[in-house]
Amino acid sequence: MKYASKLVRVNKDPGYGSHISPVYLTSTFVFENAQIGAKRFAGEDPGFMYSRLGNPNVRELEEKMAALEFGEDCLAFSSGMAAITGCLLGILQAGDHIIAHTSLYGATYAFLAKTIKKFGVDVTFVAFKTGEEVEPYITAKTKAIYFETPSNPMLSLVDMESIAAIAKQKRILTIVDNTFLSPYLQNPIQHGIDIVVHSATKYLSGHGYLIGGLVISSKDIIEPMRKEVQKNMGANLSPMDAWLLCQGIRTLHIRMDRSQHNAQILAERLEKHEAIEQVFFPGLSNFEDNYIMEKQMKGPGAMISFVLRRGYEAGVKLMNSVKLSTLAVSLGDVGTLIQHPASMTHAIIPKEEREKAGILDGLVRLSVGIEDVEDIWNDLEIGLK
Ligand SMILES: *Cc1c(COP(=O)(O)O)cnc(C)c1O
Repeated sequence: MKYASKLVRVNKDPGYGSHISPVYLTSTFVFENAQIGAKRFAGEDPGFMYSRLGNPNVRELEEKMAALEFGEDCLAFSSGMAAITGCLLGILQAGDHIIAHTSLYGATYAFLAKTIKKFGVDVTFVAFKTGEEVEPYITAKTKAIYFETPSNPMLSLVDMESIAAIAKQKRILTIVDNTFLSPYLQNPIQHGIDIVVHSATKYLSGHGYLIGGLVISSKDIIEPMRKEVQKNMGANLSPMDAWLLCQGIRTLHIRMDRSQHNAQILAERLEKHEAIEQVFFPGLSNFEDNYIMEKQMKGPGAMISFVLRRGYEAGVKLMNSVKLSTLAVSLGDVGTLIQHPASMTHAIIPKEEREKAGILDGLVRLSVGIEDVEDIWNDLEIGLK
């Protein structure tokens, strides 16, 4: 099947002739007899046992996402952070070293900078785009390289093939957070990456009604993670949320096409606006990582960051002026979301440190939705004025 058909059609046959799967809201599953129970626990019978260990709706989602990210298997978690931390705890152990990009989702950065160190894992943060730039930091203990492309919130890119080439040579695992583009616009495994993580809360859900996360990789990586991390830590996705995700994914291409189309128009107009100093959007002709985009992305996505000339005050004013866009964190919703990192998500970071990471006082992050683009533009333009 072509990709759009896969999005719509990869489903488990739910039985009983129902058009879509029922929601299996059940904590436990019945064994017909002791022998079957024993076989299930031994992994010799594919049936379910207990919903923390697996559930038909969760399995349907996992199989669908493994296909959509071109991986062999997928493991669903109760949030993007549960997926990311579960993945890292699954592959790392005391004494290991991991190289992580400096520009990461805030909670991922905090987990690597603080939590994982408590377990004896050494972390080096580096800003890199290519394998050449990351190579000097690799040691005999390096187990994994972790990054996002495009990154949050500056939308800079990392060349996945060049990182994967160095990592394969040195037998190091590569992990990419693919949340910002969704599997419709980028498939890291096809560029040599070993593990893909997603916050399913964003584009995959698309409707802002749930929190969820996914890890996609080969069977030899996912299976031990399922048996150890998922079973013993218990950050499993609920059947209801898995069901909602399966429905959300069926319209991913349509939502993404429209959001991206709107974002392209908005980015080009924002770039010309006198209140704005700079626009970060991979679809602009002067975008600095254009050559990387062409290698690995099917489109620029629908996230735009821009810097207001008048700084912090202008940011606050714009937030208080918008009426159509929702003033909220998160992204990937059918409705446009707007936020001001300096006064919100990144307010606790001292100004000097914030600016080193490119998060200027006037920076605004826009997650473009599927409304009529003229309405989004009017809303922004009134505020910018
Ligand atoms: C939101 C997000 C996360 C965390 O996901 P949750 O579902 O909120 O736990 C991780 N990475 C990126 C890039 C995100 O946008």
